[in-house]
Amino acid sequence: MNNEQLWQAILGEIELSLSKANFTTWFKSTFISSNEDNKVVVCVPNTFTKAWLENKYHKEIASAFQNITGEKIKEIFYKVEVRKTGAIEDLLNKIKIKKNNGIDSKPAPLNRFGLNSRYTFDCFVVGKGNELAHAACQAVAANPGHAYNPLFIYGGVGLGKTHLLQGIGNELSKRTDKILYVTCEKFTNDYIQSVRSGRAKEFKDLYRNVDLLMVDDVHFMAGKDGTQEEFFHTFNELHQTNKQIVISSDRPPNAMPAIEKRLLSRFNWGMVADVIQPDVETRMAILKSKCKEKNYNLEDKILEYVADNVQSNIRELEGALNRLIAYHEFNNSRPTIETTKNLLNSIISNYQTKTTSPKTIIDAVSRFYDINLKDLTGKSRKKELVVPRQIIMYLMREEIKSSYPAIGQELGGRDHTTAMHACNKISKSIEQDDKIKQEIGSIRQIIQNNG
Ligand code: ADP
Ligand code: MG
Repeated sequence: MNNEQLWQAILGEIELSLSKANFTTWFKSTFISSNEDNKVVVCVPNTFTKAWLENKYHKEIASAFQNITGEKIKEIFYKVEVRKTGAIEDLLNKIKIKKNNGIDSKPAPLNRFGLNSRYTFDCFVVGKGNELAHAACQAVAANPGHAYNPLFIYGGVGLGKTHLLQGIGNELSKRTDKILYVTCEKFTNDYIQSVRSGRAKEFKDLYRNVDLLMVDDVHFMAGKDGTQEEFFHTFNELHQTNKQIVISSDRPPNAMPAIEKRLLSRFNWGMVADVIQPDVETRMAILKSKCKEKNYNLEDKILEYVADNVQSNIRELEGALNRLIAYHEFNNSRPTIETTKNLLNSIISNYQTKTTSPKTIIDAVSRFYDINLKDLTGKSRKKELVVPRQIIMYLMREEIKSSYPAIGQELGGRDHTTAMHACNKISKSIEQDDKIKQEIGSIRQIIQNNG
């Protein structure tokens, strides 16, 4: 493994424990310039990043180094140095282990539409959890503006939303140039910038003059009234002229409390499709497909071990596979069940020891429904509070096996019979009411990611 591969593997590991935003901020444009005898020089773009890595991420880097190489790092020196552009792409093309996702900071091969050309339908594995969303995306790519408009895809992190959106983009880019893919964050920033600098017209010209507009992670528009207003008008203009709009979010439209009603109702106009966690067969198929992409052979029993043990999402599944490959390439050995077990142990136990606490559950429900904690544990019997409160009780029972009296206690000293009643009621609702079922699915995802 050369320095570039080593750093990619280290980043792959660090990424699992950081938020996307943090990861991008602190690890963008970093690289290893030398590694002699486990004395490593990490180059960073500026002194600010240098200070942060030294103070905040030093330990993570050292431990990832040890996990990957099996050796202790002797010294890390951080140096401000900017690499000439082009080198990363060159190197990446040469090595087999590419980073496993399309975070902006990565030297991912973005094409001229800002799309990662790796995100195609061809390499998207279809399984139970995503078949509807996949079919809808294909229909939209085949017949934009007419199949389903808008198309709204929702689901938890790492389940393929961005891949699907960009799959549409990559497909349509063969037929039109007027394609725009933006994260919600970029849409928001562009809009704010345009207002500040008196260039609102340019913004409109750009966003309203496309055949396909994709806005990724639209839940981040919550609470941003000005941006929502602008998006509302952009939406109307495009929709009226049969231009395709595709939106992704971490939850269904009906469950986004801090978004204007008129916008939400539009999100429901076309098709709403979810992506959920893949079952074990799909996980296995994904691993096989990724091995093929990387041109790396692994026995079925090893893939099965990974598929059985990394269940949370596809990004983490890929991360585990990348780590496995990086380690064995570095050591020039073949993976066995034993080495696989050891290697994945820290990742897996990391997921499992993320112990869920009552607070994690309450926080997740509070975030999901945008209700403050005081109201959730308070006395009010308003319907918009009662159901979320019951969902908390249900999840405490299901996820962390709390006793009924303990549940009542956590929720502002309620009686244990109230907790029992709530758990029964939500169990029934899940069977009869798809909306509740989906909402609870989304909340479980939030809990998993924050536990
Ligand atoms: P999300 O946007 O939902 O957080 P992404 O689209 O970024 O998830 O997916 C995370 C990673 O998993 C990406 O590298 C993506 O290519 C991969 N991935 C997700 N779903 C699939 C799938 N069904 N088949 C192949 N790769 C997938
Ligand atoms: Mg995404």
